[in-house]
Amino acid sequence: MFTEPRRHADFPRHRGWLEVICGSMFSGKTEELIRRLTRARIARQRVEIFKPALDTRYHAQDVVSHNQNSIRSTPVQSPAEILLLAGGSTDVVGIDEAQFFDESLVDVCRQLADNGVRVIVAGLDMDYRGRPFGPLPALLATAEFVTKVHAVCVCCGELAAYSYRIVASEKQVLLGETDSYEARCRPCFLAGDSIKVVHKEQLTMNKEG
Ligand code: ADP
Ligand code: MG
Repeated sequence: MFTEPRRHADFPRHRGWLEVICGSMFSGKTEELIRRLTRARIARQRVEIFKPALDTRYHAQDVVSHNQNSIRSTPVQSPAEILLLAGGSTDVVGIDEAQFFDESLVDVCRQLADNGVRVIVAGLDMDYRGRPFGPLPALLATAEFVTKVHAVCVCCGELAAYSYRIVASEKQVLLGETDSYEARCRPCFLAGDSIKVVHKEQLTMNKEG
């Protein structure tokens, strides 16, 4: 079983499938998306990258990871625009921050994959309450390849699957990351405000080093 097609021989022989990269904030979803898209470009495939227009936190057009990797993308208002813009000659479509799109993204990804496109979607699988987020559950169910990546819990250093909101708001979508959310493991997520961050920088460095 493959969580992602790693070697050339692992790729399906037919053209067209769906890959999903999911996890909490800071788990490396964007990094992994950029890595796969860069490799596709090296293989001289025609790659198109999209992100929701509402997400302009780091850059109006680029998809940017927390460790400052970036790749040029096209901001779109709706999934339907992706179908229009991807055109007939695209080999690979990358989509970041998929949780911000509505459910119509599921059908758009299916149509692209049915038509021979390798579709790679990255997005938060859970919102700040730990509930399944937007179109992600259906994307996960319909993908050939699913990769769940993990952050480091900023409270205790365990693997983190939750995005804990540290500012007061009940809106499901609240943009802003380092100042509004923390990556936490299950016990530290459940402990809420009773537990505090230790060595945030240290933990990030440990993970990288
Ligand atoms: P995502 O798209 O999942 O939010 P990114 O790919 O943008 O994540 O960023 C991942 C990078 O974030 C890591 O390589 C690391 O440099 C940095 N980072 C900051 N905080 C954490 C954390 N708590 N756990 C893991 N990585 C972190
Ligand atoms: Mg990201």
